[in-house]
Amino acid sequence: MEFRTKCLIIGSGPAGYTAGIYTSRAGLAPIMIEGPQPGGQLITTTEIENFPGFVDGVKGPKMMEDFRSQAERFGLQIITGMVTDVDFSSRPYKAVVDGGASTVLAESVIISTGASAKYLGLDDEQKYLGMGVSACATCDGFFFRNRTVAVVGGGDTACEEALYLAGLASKVYMIVRKDHLRASQYMQRRVMENPKIEILFDTVTLGLFGQDVLEGARLRTSPSTALPKEYEIALDGFFLAIGHKPNTDLFKGKIELDEAGYIKTASPGTATNIPGVFAAGDVADPTYQQAISAAGMGCRAALDAERFLMFSEE
Ligand code: NDP
Repeated sequence: MEFRTKCLIIGSGPAGYTAGIYTSRAGLAPIMIEGPQPGGQLITTTEIENFPGFVDGVKGPKMMEDFRSQAERFGLQIITGMVTDVDFSSRPYKAVVDGGASTVLAESVIISTGASAKYLGLDDEQKYLGMGVSACATCDGFFFRNRTVAVVGGGDTACEEALYLAGLASKVYMIVRKDHLRASQYMQRRVMENPKIEILFDTVTLGLFGQDVLEGARLRTSPSTALPKEYEIALDGFFLAIGHKPNTDLFKGKIELDEAGYIKTASPGTATNIPGVFAAGDVADPTYQQAISAAGMGCRAALDAERFLMFSEE
């Protein structure tokens, strides 16, 4: 089946749905391809308490359902499926869904495919997701006030997350696989000076344990250390901070990406190097990666697409 639209939105997190609300209301009759996990990363988040307007907080899945309903109320057409190919070589741009089950021809495109937190790959990580395991301290740290948590990773994100958590938790371990941190000197100094943070260098996580919720982690020090050993630590929270991967495999060679794979945009706008193709949310934002900042960028992308269409039709 072939669809035509003035604006195609690829991806369905807070950026995509916000773009859907704005472009629908602007009369662009947008189509969204929502992907296999509608709502993106917020679907795996528990409570969201830092999105303004939700005085008592809101569950991530509920927030995404509401964003979706709001966009549909204004006319957003949603197709469930995976975009398996795109052609940005000439307008109208083309997106192929599910290997050719349908195609969408679009005068403009907003890419909002998000990013995925990297996990260690332990079986137990998925088991305790939302039950002690998290990849976002800003989202979930509040639930670990006066508790013991660990942050995995030694980069700037891990340091930031450890410092943020140290403001809430009673004890923060950093589990670092090398004998040094990768983070900037300034961040290294800040974590080392924080009395609540203990850095476990040369240490890897073997597994997690607990009855229904997380109770601890099994660790192993590197064989090169003086006394290599396996041991357990009691934990209430286990935060992954080993980097994010932008969901841009589909766009490699078709749109300009930075060295980490994020879509390059002409900040403060959302334009990519292809006229009429815009990017919003985590897929184009390695820095902020918050629901509210993604939603704001979705709004900007919608306004940018609207202006682009207005001028390209003149
Ligand atoms: P980084 O890639 O910089 O760091 C990832 C960390 O996770 C490294 O310590 C790495 O270890 C570790 N790691 C990766 N895979 C594993 C694994 N399988 N097991 C255990 N540890 C693992 O990612 P960040 O998200 O920290 O930062 C991304 C970029 O964003 C960087 O350029 C950073 O400087 C920037 N940033 C800047 C901030 C700021 O300026 N305020 C804040 C946050 C990020 P190893 O060192 O051994 O590879």
